[in-house]
Amino acid sequence: MTIKVFNLHCNNGHMFEGWFSSHTEYEEQISKNLITCPICSSSEISKLLSTPYIGKKRSSSTIEKTHTNNIHNISLEQQAKTIESLRQIINKAENVGNNFAEEARLIHSGESQKTSIKGNISLDEKKELEEEGINIIPIPNFLDDDLLQ
Ligand SMILES: [Zn+2]
Repeated sequence: MTIKVFNLHCNNGHMFEGWFSSHTEYEEQISKNLITCPICSSSEISKLLSTPYIGKKRSSSTIEKTHTNNIHNISLEQQAKTIESLRQIINKAENVGNNFAEEARLIHSGESQKTSIKGNISLDEKKELEEEGINIIPIPNFLDDDLLQ
């Protein structure tokens, strides 16, 4: 989790640190006057400088800070790519509806040429398939365009 520490000051010149999970959170709190000076309780607060931190570990150089920010962005990008490829696999899979358990067994035994299927399954059927060594993956609804239509 990224913690952003802002050096804040009030209209009376007192300076203090504010900790936020994001710049958006800071802006929300500022706009709702939720941030007050710990010394004089003024809610007229301004930001002096912003310093990004990853976790609670402080980094000492600007280069390090830029570097960690980039890593953060890449991991979000990779996450999006993983979801996108998962979505493609799911949308390519043949929808066998309520015959899922049956079809899965046929694929497992080599009697079916299907490569990927999706469908509905009861908890009991899921348990049975797992006991037979057939691994199935629950699909979140938002990844399946068929379910969204
Ligand atoms: Zn103050």
